[in-house]
Amino acid sequence: MKVVIPEIYGFCRGVRGAIEKAERALVEASEKEVPCYFYGDIVHSRAVMENFLSKGAMRIGNPDEARAPGIVIIRAHGIPDKERSELVAKGLTIVDATCPVVLHSQLLLRTENHPLFVIGNSGHSEVVSLLGSCSSAILIERPSDLVKLRPGVDYHGVVQTTFSLTGLESILKSAEEMGISMHLLNSVCHASMERRAALSAISGSVDAIIVAGDSISRNTLELWKAAEATEKPSFLVPDANAIPGEVFSFDSVGLTAGASCPDTLIEEIKRRLLDA
Ligand code: SF4
Repeated sequence: MKVVIPEIYGFCRGVRGAIEKAERALVEASEKEVPCYFYGDIVHSRAVMENFLSKGAMRIGNPDEARAPGIVIIRAHGIPDKERSELVAKGLTIVDATCPVVLHSQLLLRTENHPLFVIGNSGHSEVVSLLGSCSSAILIERPSDLVKLRPGVDYHGVVQTTFSLTGLESILKSAEEMGISMHLLNSVCHASMERRAALSAISGSVDAIIVAGDSISRNTLELWKAAEATEKPSFLVPDANAIPGEVFSFDSVGLTAGASCPDTLIEEIKRRLLDA
């Protein structure tokens, strides 16, 4: 079988940077003999988290679960300001692994003087952190949410970095039709778009497509949607053991991976395909 890998796939800069910070923090915690906590999943990959937890780290979901002295690693999608302040007040050492792209959005929301909106998926960890970076912002998830905004008011806001492009377009188009002014301060992350574009560049030369990664990762799901849009048979594969049998009937397979998918997992899948 021929396996074609796109020019850009797998870990983005934000994820790689977050994992490197977490690895250093784990070593530091062990040297200082203090607990090492992960505030939520460092990135949306069960394989990555299981690896850290197997090394003695603990996952927490709120500041009450951590005790000082200890090190708390902030996930790549960031956390609300209030929770960060509580961790600092408890005397914990913070290792901030928030992706710079998300940090930028948080900063824009903190410093903007206009009424605010956040376009994103309700409950997504990045959206939780963005809404927690300002005193109040209106969450817009779909065009029907635009009734929460008033015509004649100049709203400023940000969009979740991994939000669907088509979803964003339909929200902005509806806002225009309703006479609602939405000034977008930034856009979806380039890393997600680059992976989708690189996949599209190879899709014509393969019989099927595998997207390696975790279904809890929004950017992986968006990449899978892009794979399905090529109309080639497409499969979301979380690990090498999960490759569906029918994949082995194709002469050529395109193999890409979401931005939080570890290199080891991509290699395992590739090896399994080539060995078949
Ligand atoms: Fe940061 Fe973009 Fe990677 Fe998300 S996909 S971690 S926003 S670089």
